[in-house]
Amino acid sequence: MILRAVERDDMYVLTVSIRGVEHTLTGPVSSMGRRSIGQSLLVLLRTEQGLPAHNEWGTMVGVRPTKLLHKYIDQYGSLEDATRHIGDEFSVSLEKLDILSRIGQYQRPFLESHSNKDISLYCGIPFCETRCVYCSFPYGLYQEYHRQSEFIAALLDDIDDVRQICESYNLHTNTLYMGGGTPTILNNEDFHHVLTGLSTLIPKGHEFTVEAGRPDSITTEKIQSMQACHVNRISINPQTMDDTILRRIGRGHSAQDIDDMYQYVKKHTDFAVNMDFIAGLPGQNIKHMVHNMDYICHNLPENVTIHTLAIKRGSPLYDLNMQHDVPDESIVKHMVQYAQERLEQAGYVPYYLYRQQYMRGQLENIGYTLPGQACEYNIQIMEERQTIMSMGPGGSSKWIKAPAFRQKKQHMPKDVDVYTDTLKALLAKRHALCKSFWEVV
Ligand code: SF4
Repeated sequence: MILRAVERDDMYVLTVSIRGVEHTLTGPVSSMGRRSIGQSLLVLLRTEQGLPAHNEWGTMVGVRPTKLLHKYIDQYGSLEDATRHIGDEFSVSLEKLDILSRIGQYQRPFLESHSNKDISLYCGIPFCETRCVYCSFPYGLYQEYHRQSEFIAALLDDIDDVRQICESYNLHTNTLYMGGGTPTILNNEDFHHVLTGLSTLIPKGHEFTVEAGRPDSITTEKIQSMQACHVNRISINPQTMDDTILRRIGRGHSAQDIDDMYQYVKKHTDFAVNMDFIAGLPGQNIKHMVHNMDYICHNLPENVTIHTLAIKRGSPLYDLNMQHDVPDESIVKHMVQYAQERLEQAGYVPYYLYRQQYMRGQLENIGYTLPGQACEYNIQIMEERQTIMSMGPGGSSKWIKAPAFRQKKQHMPKDVDVYTDTLKALLAKRHALCKSFWEVV
């Protein structure tokens, strides 16, 4: 509890009470002074909770450490100086600075020399068939939603509206990402209609990704639709290759289903494939991560993303009190390090990184890629240097212009009924934002 926060003799003085004991923290009146007090407070709180005093990310709390790195590269002129400033200001460990710097270097060419007419697009399908225990998404299960056809009709209108905007302003779509939820939850016919609409927004051969996260939602017809609509990347997300853990986390498929789908896709398509894994699932230990990485290093999908479990408020994992089964911070850290070592030995390089609240061990999520196979959308969405327009409920459009990269935003309602019922007004607002962005010189 904060007792007092005052400024005295050019010093900030913060007095806090932790479990009835008073602590006074001081620092010079400056942003460095504020950060130094924050660092001391963090050490106190971690020690009180029986955790190691220093977290590897120091006092850095934002979701996008690499976005700050790019800002500092612009400000200080080099990757080395930018990395050093982050280390000094936030007490980030050398290990995290190293990965941050390598990712920044990899990303830099993707972020330079964009015209304001270069954009990325996102289309969100906010439904799944079952709910994973760690998920706090606010949407419903598709089979229980009774206005499916109205939702699809609204989404097709939304997509067509973006097509008109792209034509009016002569925009160039670099990447398109269809995410969720689980986009492949739609029936074969609806999936085909939506994909056909989306395919009008992006030239053939440009990066077009579909998150086909759960193998139990994918059919051969949907794969054929993706091929016909020139999709070139998909995500098949095991999270773990252990059946017992898959059942515990609420996935409706087995590890064998994942492998069957992966082998089918590799045999019949030329899609680049991403696979997501989570470190820190209930009941998981290092042997499970060894097994996961054995699978990956044998099959070598183009991209792999290693997430750290985040126990979010509103998720069944939080509410069901399954937290005692979640491995200790030190074990999760070991898993994350192990995955990184195995992936790098196998030829993968880290290419994007983000953090979330409530992550086990306050670690991070890292996307790895085989050389030349990175998913550019993942870079653009995290680094926020390119305009991204969003279709579907819950998406955020951000209009972003160099060199300041300030943003104008529009958030679509998360409630699917509200989205469907108010779409006309939402599209009118989007048109006004586009006009003010692309018509004002
Ligand atoms: S598949 Fe993704 S969106 Fe769906 S319940 Fe699981 S974590 Fe949530």
